[in-house]
Amino acid sequence: MSTFEQLFGQAPEGEWAAPGRVNLIGEHTDYNGGFVLPIALPQSVRAQARRRADGLLRLWSAQAGGPVVELAVAGLVPGSVPGWAAYPAAVVWALREAGYEVGGADLRLDSEVPTGAGLSSSAALECAVAAAYNDLYGLGLSAPELALLAQRAENAFVGVPCGIMDQMASMCCRPGAALFLDSRDLTMRQVPIDLAGAGLALLVLDTRVKHDLADGAYAALRAGCERAAALLGLPALRSLAPADLPSALGRLPAELVPLVRHVVTENARVEAAVDCLDAGRLTGLGPILTAGHASLRDDYRVSCRETDLAVEAAVAAGAHGARMTGGGFGGSVIALVDAAEAERVAAEVAAAFRRAGLTEPRTLTAVPAEGARRTA
Ligand code: ADP
Ligand code: MG
Repeated sequence: MSTFEQLFGQAPEGEWAAPGRVNLIGEHTDYNGGFVLPIALPQSVRAQARRRADGLLRLWSAQAGGPVVELAVAGLVPGSVPGWAAYPAAVVWALREAGYEVGGADLRLDSEVPTGAGLSSSAALECAVAAAYNDLYGLGLSAPELALLAQRAENAFVGVPCGIMDQMASMCCRPGAALFLDSRDLTMRQVPIDLAGAGLALLVLDTRVKHDLADGAYAALRAGCERAAALLGLPALRSLAPADLPSALGRLPAELVPLVRHVVTENARVEAAVDCLDAGRLTGLGPILTAGHASLRDDYRVSCRETDLAVEAAVAAGAHGARMTGGGFGGSVIALVDAAEAERVAAEVAAAFRRAGLTEPRTLTAVPAEGARRTA
């Protein structure tokens, strides 16, 4: 494995880490101005970095392998960088486009966050680079400001129309807490969640599939939500109260009805989940998770055979509740289980996958960890 010194000939100035995340509940609500409730994973992307005075951005990733990618920061334009290097380059572009006069850097990236698993390795990568640049160039930007720039980078430079949840989770989560975020105005509250103290564990079951339709489908769903809000005369679906849902649905074309129903009920599920956490009734989260999965499967239609099977098998094995996490069409499922039963539940899910002729999921345990930070 190449060290920073081997790659770039000098020691790094520092190291920054930014975590992946799972979202407890609130899926596809963030681009509708709604609530989300993510926790940061202990798994992070780490960026070792050193400023360069010659305007070059030199990038290397332990996961991508291959040679160092070399780019001129002044020449960065959306669409100009292929492959994985687009993500870190996008952050530098977004900073410069926002008026920060940052130059080049040497960046060595290494990660424990599985990629393409719905655990938001992309935002972790962006946020690690954003945190490094913030310190290297003395920008003094706050965590939410960096999250917004990272989102802009992914939207406008990489071309993925994601909401703000992933970047806010990676920048702002705290150990032992879930981040109750209002994506309309970025107000947030750290909600304590002591899983271990309640004898519980949160399993992450990575199905290791990612279906191709994910990218186009995400944009189409987002556009459908925006069309529904416009038809209802609302700035975003967040503004539709659950009590007004039945009459609103009657005014929409049939194809938009399930989308709106998901967003409005999902937003209410986030509030119900926060009530459970505030009351210390952690097992109360279980049915909320499972109801959220049913809504994503039946109304929003972003689940797939593998995530449905993982949810069903986990619940059949005694999980308090389970649901897919992330955008959908594959990726990971979270399952709330008694800590003493975690291994057995994971083994039963694996057995169900074998019986179905599918590759077994990879299993992690989600322990609410810290957001982006300098580590050396
Ligand atoms: P997710 O964010 O759910 O993991 P995405 O498709 O949004 O899935 O992002 C995955 C992409 O992010 C990868 O295909 C790769 O381009 C980039 N990426 C993530 N982690 C790394 C890494 N450690 N090194 C290089 N590229 C990475
Ligand atoms: Mg992503």
